Amino acid sequence: LVSRKWKTERTQIDLGDGVKVGDKNFAIMAGPCSIEGEEQIRSTVKQLVKSGVRIMRGGVYKPRSSPYSFRGMGMDGLKLFSQLCKAEGIKIITEVMQVSQVEEMHDYVDIFQVGSRNSQNFNLLDALGGIDKPVLIKRGISGSIDELLYSAEYIFSGGNEKLMLCERGIRTYERAYRNTLDLNAVPILKEKSHLPVIVDPSHGIGLRQHMEPMALAATVAGADGLLLEIHEQPEIAFSDGQQTLNYREFEQLLEKIKIIKEVL
Ligand code: PEP
Ligand code: MN
Repeated sequence: LVSRKWKTERTQIDLGDGVKVGDKNFAIMAGPCSIEGEEQIRSTVKQLVKSGVRIMRGGVYKPRSSPYSFRGMGMDGLKLFSQLCKAEGIKIITEVMQVSQVEEMHDYVDIFQVGSRNSQNFNLLDALGGIDKPVLIKRGISGSIDELLYSAEYIFSGGNEKLMLCERGIRTYERAYRNTLDLNAVPILKEKSHLPVIVDPSHGIGLRQHMEPMALAATVAGADGLLLEIHEQPEIAFSDGQQTLNYREFEQLLEKIKIIKEVL
């Protein structure tokens, strides 16, 4: 069902209030790796409004490699996140980690993110197939393109057609960077599927100083949008600061994307 053999025209996701993703609507989704508190949300929202970006990312349930790392603010954080974004017409994308969270998070979320580690959590995928909220599903840490498409198929076949695919880098033998951003996946996924393809260059390379060229390359490769980690002070971010852009770097990147989109 997610194949272009089933549907030839491109899927566009309508988030309401004029915010659309896919089929010529290039979408920037930006924000911190983790929601850290009221001041940080306000600061990010202000920056997004200034930049004309309509979707904010931010995790409140964080899948961390170590249980001793910051694991997110949970529902208290999400409620605050939702309240402050709604006031400014900003849509929210945030990660859901287990079936029981789908219902409690539902009313506060505009896009549910399925993270790499849960890309094959089939119970979670089934649960998301039964709701009427957009879902962005990331490729597994060592997941193949077909595995990503089958995971999407779980959600789509359950009746939820508001789906986006996300390339976020895969694990290879190369340790010079955090992950290997597989830009080959963009044209291949767009050839195979009618769903929008989003690229996450932050996790894709994992290094702030090299994130910009990869974001631009993803844009040229045909991505329908970018998922970007930004923070007022990446140095003190609770998670993933090493791959997070500050606001000045973010603005510069947006300028360059604008120029590239004009010639594409
Ligand atoms: C994230 O978006 O912060 C995240 C945890 O991503 P991934 O699942 O790609 O590691
Ligand atoms: Mn992160």
